[in-house]
Amino acid sequence: MHNSQLPDDVSGETFAAQGGGGHDPETGAVLPAVQFATTFLRDPDNGYSSGYSYRRDDNPNVRQAEAVLKRLEAAEGPALLYSSGMSAAISLFLALPTPTRILAPEVMYWGLRQWLKLDGPRHGIEATFVDFSHPDALATALDETKPHLVWLETPGNPMWNITDIRSVATQAHAAGALVGCDSTVATPVHTQPLSLGADVVMHSVSKYLNGHSDIIAGALVFAENGPVAQEAARNRRAMGPNLSPMEAMLLLRGMRTLHLRVRHQSAAALAIAQHFQNHVRIAEVLYPGLPGRPGHNIAANQMTDGFGGMLSIRVKGGATAAIAVAAHTRIWTRATSLGGIESLLEHRASIEGAGTPVPDDLLRLSAGLEDVDDLIADLEQALDISAQT
Ligand SMILES: *Cc1c(COP(=O)(O)O)cnc(C)c1O
Repeated sequence: MHNSQLPDDVSGETFAAQGGGGHDPETGAVLPAVQFATTFLRDPDNGYSSGYSYRRDDNPNVRQAEAVLKRLEAAEGPALLYSSGMSAAISLFLALPTPTRILAPEVMYWGLRQWLKLDGPRHGIEATFVDFSHPDALATALDETKPHLVWLETPGNPMWNITDIRSVATQAHAAGALVGCDSTVATPVHTQPLSLGADVVMHSVSKYLNGHSDIIAGALVFAENGPVAQEAARNRRAMGPNLSPMEAMLLLRGMRTLHLRVRHQSAAALAIAQHFQNHVRIAEVLYPGLPGRPGHNIAANQMTDGFGGMLSIRVKGGATAAIAVAAHTRIWTRATSLGGIESLLEHRASIEGAGTPVPDDLLRLSAGLEDVDDLIADLEQALDISAQT
């Protein structure tokens, strides 16, 4: 896309709503064409004046979606899209010097924790898991392990623990470590980790950024184009865990409504959390937007415009009761994943298996775009029915 008349200083929201702006120079189309070509014409003088040579290196649709991501995170460095959130995060870990020492939270996205534990060592990666809510634990771990990277996730899946990005970044930087932040749940609507001192933000783009449960994608967005960013970009060109042009186009469309969706979903999650916080059948509602919850004050400081669309409930009666509630919803869909337009719920302990820190009475809820009164009524009737069985 060319000839964008968008002023340079428009907000990320405006930039995303216009898909980065501009129109197709050949046809005037207001949307970019999807460019599937794997190879591009070489100039007579042997150069590539178009800037494109081969699709493993670069593609116009991917480049445009990356420009939007870069703006959404207000990044000085590059935004790199990957074929999944997992491949984005793992690509970052593999771009660090070896042997690699990483500090990561005790409660974090399960798939990534498993990879760090089980696969990391074969790649020279040694991960230490820390409870970031205890400042002493971080100081001790920084001192003992001298990590290359401190990895955060806030709100952290699926208990929605809040980590103070600015404070962790200050401590980590003083110890010579980089800071990476999985910001999948916060989204750029609520938090811009780079502005709080993180060096790189990671997203499972499969979730809120795309928002329609129809692509798997991930991203790394860097505060600056330093050695790690360059190594990650080099490695992506070498290995090719890229996003396809069609998926980049779907993502560009998804991001046009990012702010609209996420604000609605966060307001819905808050309403649901408030409704159920003193419910007779519920032992605990985990949502950082509720005053009095651990981390609420930090969240209120570092998040803007809401606390995210994810919450969890602990059902009285343990795993059996929680699974029974999930069995009886008619609007909430029983499925993994989050951040899409449809409301999803899931019994996390069943997914994560033995050794998970997640309580077995916990249901994770991803608030969608349905009428919030319908969502609340559906949970109420499922709690009623399951109480009778
Ligand atoms: C889904 C998810 C991931 C993994 O992303 P994929 O796109 O599924 O590979 C990482 N972190 C969080 C917080 C997630 O929700």
